[in-house]
Amino acid sequence: MDLKDELDFITAKAKQLTDTGVRKADEVLSISKLKLRCVQLDALIKAKYTELGRTMYGMVKNDSSDADRIAQAVMEIDHLYKKMAQYNARIEMMRKIVTCPVCGTKNKFSNTYCTGCMHKLVSTDEEPEDYSYTPENDENE
Ligand SMILES: [Zn+2]
Repeated sequence: MDLKDELDFITAKAKQLTDTGVRKADEVLSISKLKLRCVQLDALIKAKYTELGRTMYGMVKNDSSDADRIAQAVMEIDHLYKKMAQYNARIEMMRKIVTCPVCGTKNKFSNTYCTGCMHKLVSTDEEPEDYSYTPENDENE
């Protein structure tokens, strides 16, 4: 493939990507990336638990105390869990799901009220671009 052919190929590929909707592709990629990170975090948490178990084992075996190391490991595990919760929240956000802060029901982003408890859902500042609100068609008839 010479340089001109290569450039043509790249241009064609770029156009193809634009035509098929880059935004949608990005969205899917990001969700799978986030999911992958959750899997990695999960593996990391398991590794931390193993490490913690080994520390505890060593403590009992050697009749020693290493409270600092244990506290550190617990803190790290908590941190990893928090991070995972953040990723999960972002995945939900990208899937346009809103979790009710009162009852925990998962609602569609477009819902004004929670289907579980009728709590008014406050829309966040990160609105999906295709979400359009038309007040004139709302309850006026
Ligand atoms: Zn609710």
